[in-house]
Amino acid sequence: MSEVLNRETPLAAAEHAVPGANRDAAYDVARIRADFPILTREVYGKPLVYLDNGASAQKPVQVLDAMDEAYRRYYANVHRGIHRLSQEATDAFEAARDKVARFVGAPNHDEIVFTRGATEAINLVANSWGQRHIGEGDEIVLTVLEHHANIVPWQMLRERTGCVLKVVPLTPEGSPDLQVYESLLGPRTKLVAVAHISNVLGTVLPVRQMIDMAHAAGAKVLLDGCQAAPHMPIDMRALGCDFYVFSSHKLYGPTGIGVLWAPFETLNEMPPYQGGGEMIDRVTFEETTFKSPPHRFEAGTPAIVEAIGLGAAVDYVEGIGLDAIAAHEESLLRYATERLSAIDGLTLYGTAKEKAAILSFNLEGPHAHDVGTILDRSGVAVRCGHHCAQPLMDFLDVPATSRASFGLYNTHAEVDALAAAIEKVKDFF
Ligand SMILES: *Cc1c(COP(=O)(O)O)cnc(C)c1O
Repeated sequence: MSEVLNRETPLAAAEHAVPGANRDAAYDVARIRADFPILTREVYGKPLVYLDNGASAQKPVQVLDAMDEAYRRYYANVHRGIHRLSQEATDAFEAARDKVARFVGAPNHDEIVFTRGATEAINLVANSWGQRHIGEGDEIVLTVLEHHANIVPWQMLRERTGCVLKVVPLTPEGSPDLQVYESLLGPRTKLVAVAHISNVLGTVLPVRQMIDMAHAAGAKVLLDGCQAAPHMPIDMRALGCDFYVFSSHKLYGPTGIGVLWAPFETLNEMPPYQGGGEMIDRVTFEETTFKSPPHRFEAGTPAIVEAIGLGAAVDYVEGIGLDAIAAHEESLLRYATERLSAIDGLTLYGTAKEKAAILSFNLEGPHAHDVGTILDRSGVAVRCGHHCAQPLMDFLDVPATSRASFGLYNTHAEVDALAAAIEKVKDFF
């Protein structure tokens, strides 16, 4: 059991909360913030208000310490050493895989493949599974709101195989149009690859329904869970998808590591993605046989310490509780939506009923980049640009948006700081 769990958890505190009391107080966001050293720093003499969690989240001391300890106390290469340090490093590395398996509700830790990130995980599926199962004229269904990481690998597969990409448009609220989706599913549909939560609009896609519809058409489903894993409980058994990917660095863990989950039977009939050490059973110059999953897909020395850091991040968020995090962020979303909607000349993009705490907006007049620069001078860090979702920008008919994306350590006071900083932008234009 993690240290975080042994403390009186914010979730336990929340259960005793007086209805209508300040959510921040019940959740003890101050205690959570104290775990994140970077949140105490200032920028331009102003307290940092970090609202760029959709791009990457900050790291708690529990993650930093776990990685520091690994490097200081038991660092060695994994899986092939008989010496003590290598065994300890291997145990910690594989323990991280167990933690991730539990975190996503995977029945078996061999279903967790460590990758460099979500992007590599999608490329792995496109190259390995896609190369074997997708042929000329076969169809892959995406939505307009996908991140480039869930578009470009499929375009590259199209180059190689002659398959066809079909794209589901959005409703005015920013959710996939399910009527069109249904009409795009057919006997040639092999795969539906969609975000679980949009990184621009915050929309939580109706994935249960979309998965059932895809399966009824005989297609597999890949979910891009980058924005979901940090913000809501995820459970592979309940979701019933065929592939799930996410990155550690958006889940308060280190960069350089991510996760692909798929049922063992699916992974077991997929050919290797990259060749090298760690993934082979036996090599001769005539023939090489491969290990079974997940090692078949982890060629070379893995990101050992990053995996250990990811394990610590999983412990950390589970210690607070994904339900408690989701409730806190929902409260921030409601408050931020109310505050930003009240600002004259501000347009919010994405108003789906099921929505994560991501607010994309534009002001009448200034370009998003100018908005971001001025907000930065107030200490408020937001992302401005196309957010790796240019087809969505085209669909919205804007060149860019500003995006405030909230995490488990953000506060209602920071929503006020954001709103005040936006008001200040208006003074310049
Ligand atoms: C961040 C993100 C990605 C890409 O993740 P990497 O960590 O850069 O590989 C893909 N999809 C969504 C929805 C994202 O938010």
